Amino acid sequence: MDQVGIDSTAFRKALLKWYRAEGRRLPWRETDDPYAILVSEFMLQQTQVVTAIPYYHRWLERFPTVEALASASTHDLLALWQGLGLYRRAHNLQRCARMVVDKWGGVFPRSVEGLRELPGVGRYTAGAVASFAYNLPAPVVDGNVARVLSRVLNLQEPIDTPVGQAILWDAAERIARCKQPRLINNALMDLGAVLCKARRPACGRCPVRRVCRAIDAETLPRKRPQPPTQVRVERYWWFYDGARVLLEQRQAAARWGGLWTLPTLDADAPSGRETFVSLRHHIMRFLIDLQVVRGDHASLPQPPAASRLWQPVARLGEVPMPTPHRRVIGLALAAESARL
Ligand code: SF4
Repeated sequence: MDQVGIDSTAFRKALLKWYRAEGRRLPWRETDDPYAILVSEFMLQQTQVVTAIPYYHRWLERFPTVEALASASTHDLLALWQGLGLYRRAHNLQRCARMVVDKWGGVFPRSVEGLRELPGVGRYTAGAVASFAYNLPAPVVDGNVARVLSRVLNLQEPIDTPVGQAILWDAAERIARCKQPRLINNALMDLGAVLCKARRPACGRCPVRRVCRAIDAETLPRKRPQPPTQVRVERYWWFYDGARVLLEQRQAAARWGGLWTLPTLDADAPSGRETFVSLRHHIMRFLIDLQVVRGDHASLPQPPAASRLWQPVARLGEVPMPTPHRRVIGLALAAESARL
């Protein structure tokens, strides 16, 4: 029994035995290239594994090296990321590549501290690259690992408090302090993804059930009460000439920076027109009510800015666009057809 309150040696032994037999085979586990692992980690932030896999393959085919990514155009970058959402990750990934090339001659740092200098790389991502690429005993605590450890420790402290976080990272660090940190970290993640799920954990089949101290597993991990979802209205113009749609490129620093969307209509500006089509979607704790208003020649922004584009409907797929806008354009085109 060590200071985390569990027998770490027994825990690791049981976990590794299970992982070797039943661990998931994932493409980023077949490499020790820190660049490829960093790509996978950025893609997996708030994205499911099954969604990320085809993106990962396409990305590495198009940008096989950190140099290739560093010199990529924004258009190519966003076109490949399109559909994954949270586009800041793509920009940060390229900023990482440029830093590795410019500062370290294309060679990634081999320490958690060095990796944390990279843009958008926090403790988790640095630990993931350090352990998966270099087999360094660096802890990783993502959602799956936090759930497993909070249950194994029977942690009653909310995990989104500084105290809860400190306990989890301390436990993960002690568990990773072994000869096989790469395998142990992967195994911890898989245990959370495959058996120790949020609902109905499969404790009867769990390799670490003899070590686990959870009394009422489904009530763990505890979290602080979440603020209620806020509804936010966003309004956009719909300009359509029967064959083309007017699009606007978002400013680099804005949400969806560099992507093309319908032209923005100030949410408070009276347009005097009814909503033509609308779509609701979630971003973090916001429910976005995306409303589209039909425009005509009188409301057409003049002169057309360089960041606006009349894009043929048949070639909308060539333009990098956030998914909600692609969907609402589909709704608007269907509504136009129905009017005929
Ligand atoms: S015994 Fe149950 S609660 Fe404990 S780690 Fe295994 S699946 Fe999770």
